[in-house]
Amino acid sequence: MQYHSTRSNENAVDSAQAVLQGLAPDGGLYMPASLPAFDWKACLQGDTYEMANRILSAFLPDIPDMEQLVRKAYTGKFAAEDLTPTVSVGPFTVLELFHGPTSAFKDVALSMLPQLLTAAKAAKQMDDDILILTATSGDTGKAALEGFRDVDGIRICVFYPDGGVSKVQRAQMVTQEGNNVTVCAVKGNFDDAQTGVKNIFAACQAQNLLEGKGFRLSSANSINIGRLAPQVTYYFKAYKDLMDRGQIALGDQVNFSVPTGNFGDILAGYLAKCMGLPVGRLICASNANNVLTDFIRTGTYDRRRPLHKTLSPSMDILVSSNLERLLYLLSGEDTALVAQLMNDLNTKGSYSVPDALLQAIEKDFWAGCCGDAGAQETIAAVWKEYGYVCDPHTATGWAVAKDYVAETCDDRPMVVLSTASPYKFPAAVLDALGSTDAGDEFDQMEQLCALTGVQIPAPLATLRGKPEKHTGVIEKENMLEFVLAL
Ligand SMILES: *Cc1c(COP(=O)(O)O)cnc(C)c1O
Repeated sequence: MQYHSTRSNENAVDSAQAVLQGLAPDGGLYMPASLPAFDWKACLQGDTYEMANRILSAFLPDIPDMEQLVRKAYTGKFAAEDLTPTVSVGPFTVLELFHGPTSAFKDVALSMLPQLLTAAKAAKQMDDDILILTATSGDTGKAALEGFRDVDGIRICVFYPDGGVSKVQRAQMVTQEGNNVTVCAVKGNFDDAQTGVKNIFAACQAQNLLEGKGFRLSSANSINIGRLAPQVTYYFKAYKDLMDRGQIALGDQVNFSVPTGNFGDILAGYLAKCMGLPVGRLICASNANNVLTDFIRTGTYDRRRPLHKTLSPSMDILVSSNLERLLYLLSGEDTALVAQLMNDLNTKGSYSVPDALLQAIEKDFWAGCCGDAGAQETIAAVWKEYGYVCDPHTATGWAVAKDYVAETCDDRPMVVLSTASPYKFPAAVLDALGSTDAGDEFDQMEQLCALTGVQIPAPLATLRGKPEKHTGVIEKENMLEFVLAL
């Protein structure tokens, strides 16, 4: 299947090459020239593993033995047998995506990506090693490190914003084991780290800096189509759960509320809809960094604003990379327009889309935001009313879902995506529940467990006392030099 950049129809590659390269040479993101034909009803008949196999085979037909890759990626790695269970909580259904090895939703994709990359490498008979370069706002880094540790022929280097991730997230990364991993803090925020990584890709490409070094770069960020495609599966899975419980009949539409940062998770929902799944509205939920709320309501994307540090750090983002893929799809694959908009974003810090494109976006999406105080009130209310504990990201999705229903009276079933375990953010959750947190993050986890009776996920409980192996901090200007010295 042919993939090309969102910014140009030239230089098509196949799906295995798209996974290997991550980012297109012109800085655009790879998309299929046309979305795969798909029997969505047949897909709903399988279990999670069969759904993943069907969806990934449709997107990545040039990677062989998908069924086996899916089994290798997930078997025994998640605390839930069906990987992503749903729970009925008051008026909504919560889709719990945090039962993987690092307790955040990114495990769903990052357990799969190493399998896809290794198989793509074999399919293309590529001898060079791959160096995965990743910028993280907190959760991607750990999930990628865990997914890629000790994978033959692949090395991984993760950059995170110094002081910009939660204590638990930092502890998860700096204690990472594995003989092929590097972790380093960057002075700056997530956008600085992400821009730094994009610049390294561009510099290596333009100046042939890796010539003769025996490795090539790829990315584990959701700019990689191999990261995005696995996330489509759980939209199908949630839909099937609602059918199995008799809450909907085949063909009924379901809305999804998605706590959003880089726009990868919610875009996977849109791809599910494009493949036929009866998805109603996709609710884009942001924290105080509400650049997407403004964009979806006005058609103007303006990154020229301060980045706020919030209680939901994985959404502290001003440049949502995957929005580019939505612009591409909804503009009728107008690569010239997308190239122009992205150029405006780079040079002016903002862009405005044509009216027709805005209308197309508003047909499928609705956006809202919720600050830290609102998220904490939501954590408290959901606990008090329904006995369910959620993390600050999930609370943001819940609060915006409620606003959506209040404003539109849309009574289709609502699924709220739960993207992280509350134990990744124990201080914020304890605080919300009116309990003063004491001691370090591990004491707080135990305190939260005593208060709620919800078990601490094993991978978080066992972090305590692990030695810190990766404590370096560098200036953002030195990221390229750092990588070339690896
Ligand atoms: C990454 C992340 C998000 C945002 O997902 P995107 O795909 O970047 O929009 C939301 N919540 C948590 C906990 C995350 O780790």
